[in-house]
Amino acid sequence: MKLHLLDLGSIEYDEGFPLAGAGVSTLSEPNPAAARRKVAIIGALIEHPKIGPILFDTGAAPNAREVWPPIVFELFAITEYRDEQRLDNVLGAAGFGLDDVKAIVLSHMHLDHAGGLEFFRGKDVPVYVSATELRNAFYAIASKEDIGAYVPHYIDFSFNWQPFDGDHLELFPDFQLHLLAGHTPGLMGLQLDLANSGTFLLTSDQFHLRENYEQGRPLGWLLRDHAAWWRSHRLAKRIAENMDAKLVFGHDREVLAELKKERFYD
Ligand SMILES: [Zn+2]
Repeated sequence: MKLHLLDLGSIEYDEGFPLAGAGVSTLSEPNPAAARRKVAIIGALIEHPKIGPILFDTGAAPNAREVWPPIVFELFAITEYRDEQRLDNVLGAAGFGLDDVKAIVLSHMHLDHAGGLEFFRGKDVPVYVSATELRNAFYAIASKEDIGAYVPHYIDFSFNWQPFDGDHLELFPDFQLHLLAGHTPGLMGLQLDLANSGTFLLTSDQFHLRENYEQGRPLGWLLRDHAAWWRSHRLAKRIAENMDAKLVFGHDREVLAELKKERFYD
């Protein structure tokens, strides 16, 4: 099994989205400057010996500026999207075409993880996602209770949705999903046990940044369930420590750059 980490562009946003308490005013600093962060959009391609190429998260739609509501693009601006960061070209660089992808697994259905399903429109590739997440995404759009993070363009009946249940699932051999709820109710992290490189844990947006994990600092405005987030933090820490796992956070650009010094892991 081989793991390729994918750089699918960069987003710039207020630090208050990924980090609780960022920019908070205090008595002695009543008007702190709002800090901004440039982060990566991250996916992964897993060459699985039994299944074939599996895509874990798809990034954003290539035409996000047109299909996202303008206010969403203002808040989560994609400020870097070079040709070599387009999903089709990223897969090409790893030696695969879009039609080679045998399965898509979504950590969750937010716009910067599932919007790249547009590359697969009209294809019948199975899209695996937690049933809880699938319900939440369609419900969020229908009820208008959490639109912004979920955008209607890809929350569409025509994709070949393959929901699964449970807190823990070995979806494919050595390809394990763990429920890491908090950012969304059905977010799944991916544990890959590689023969030579050891265990990787792709946490997706349970942790946008290294600080969320290492400093035990919850997400900011992107947190939906505080108690669940802490349960997920404990679980991720348990897996990471037991397996001596390398962690890939949902959007940490520096961690991605460091890990991408290797072309792939096997
Ligand atoms: Zn995200």
